[in-house]
Amino acid sequence: MTQSGKVYLVGAGPGDPGLLTLKGKRCLEEADLVLYDGLANPLLLRHTHATAERTSRADSDGRRTLDQSEINQRLVEAGLAGKIVVRLKGGDPFIFGRGSEEAKALADAGVPYEVVPGITAATAASEYAGISMTHREHASAVAFVTGHEDPTKPELALDYEHLANFPGTLVFYMGLHRLPAIASSLIENEKSKQTQVAVISRGSTPLQRTVTGTLENIPQLVKAAGLRPPSLIIVGECVSQRDEINWFESLPLAGMTIGITRPEDQADNAIELAHALGAQPLLMPTIEIHPIGDWSEVDTAIHSIQNYDWITFTSVNGIDAFLRRVWDLGYDNRILSNTKIACIGPATAERLKTYSLRADVVPEIYRGEELANSLVEHVDGKKVLWPRANRGREILPEILTAAGAEVHSLVVYDHRDVEGFSEEVIKTLVNGEVDWIGLSSPTIARNIANLISKFDLNSVPRLVAISPVTEQAAMEAGLEVSTVATVHTWDGIFDAIVHLVKR
Ligand code: SAH
Repeated sequence: MTQSGKVYLVGAGPGDPGLLTLKGKRCLEEADLVLYDGLANPLLLRHTHATAERTSRADSDGRRTLDQSEINQRLVEAGLAGKIVVRLKGGDPFIFGRGSEEAKALADAGVPYEVVPGITAATAASEYAGISMTHREHASAVAFVTGHEDPTKPELALDYEHLANFPGTLVFYMGLHRLPAIASSLIENEKSKQTQVAVISRGSTPLQRTVTGTLENIPQLVKAAGLRPPSLIIVGECVSQRDEINWFESLPLAGMTIGITRPEDQADNAIELAHALGAQPLLMPTIEIHPIGDWSEVDTAIHSIQNYDWITFTSVNGIDAFLRRVWDLGYDNRILSNTKIACIGPATAERLKTYSLRADVVPEIYRGEELANSLVEHVDGKKVLWPRANRGREILPEILTAAGAEVHSLVVYDHRDVEGFSEEVIKTLVNGEVDWIGLSSPTIARNIANLISKFDLNSVPRLVAISPVTEQAAMEAGLEVSTVATVHTWDGIFDAIVHLVKR
């Protein structure tokens, strides 16, 4: 029997990657192939190991540029080939998306499929703009309307006379480029010129912008503001409520773009922090973490772990690489029962906790010297194991050896510099759209200095260093640092930015 494939038509939500359903996430986790459209946030691909392909791009006025029958064909073929396929579509798959046509093609071909609804742009954008489409004082109905049709064409399917008299809120999808015609058609059909209108661009993303006005003046206001697709037009008195409950655009870092320099597969926490503060995270890793090629030295150390009195961890990568190897060799935490553990700072101590291990020593200040100094009194005549990267500062073994310890530096992962930034990062940087970059280690600071020097930037992003050591490295590399985190973690980096922005 051939293994049967399945296609999931999944709503990706409106832009905020947190607005994906649990079912949608599970589908992504299980998928072999993901075909995503131009509106789906690529950050959602972090939930999948599948091959992912963008099937279409929203061009400047939101129109699709790829042939739908080609997409249908791909879905059918992959399903018949036994693959688990996710067709990831912006918002909800059936609301002004051609999801139902994809479902029909799958049904016709006998490919099993399911539809996973998503949060459509209307609900998300209105709520993120502080507007309730059905506020009981303003509207008893909502209509989702396509703004794609030209209201001045006689053969129009939409009846603007009825729309103008609709007793509730009108929400136009795909209408930005026709806003003047939509507004004047409603006015011609006797909707009051003073009716409130909001146009919300890139709703629910940190780049959300909202312009409000009346049916009469909204076209000029939107033009002056230069709003871009995807945008939604909301017509109705419920828009007036926005002044009181505009929560999202009031978040501390709303509208700002923050460069996240962590290695890509460790950026989840920083991405979440950025979103929680209303900021757009831009992944711009400068180093990659790779497994080492030859584990023999590590394995020997682990088999004879009883010989060591202390293990010192100076990075979360070191913890992960070392403890996973312990597990893979068939041991568990019990082999560390006679070994004391020291961590360099709060992030490493936190990571250790996820392995149910408690650090015996964590210095107050996150710094190699501090860690070494807090160990000096314990290590005379003792053996210390230091799982580490293939490069980094050597201060720890220097101080500990001077204090009488025998230090074994054990490389458990490789650090490599990236060759350059992605095209998206370069474009955002060159356009002057990056507001802040977080520098979370001396190596990252040096790499950023090097990578940025290749471009002619109109406006240079402000820099925040995770610690004084990183600040020092940045300054030596010719960078100007605006602020230094008090707590030496990515939370600390964001706190420092919020603190400066507030002043
Ligand atoms: N299936 C999608 C809609 C696809 S039609 C959904 O359910 O949301 C594309 C239109 O959706 C765009 O032209 C725009 O009007 C609207 N849209 C999609 N995402 C949006 C966003 N983040 N902010 C504002 N409008 C959005």
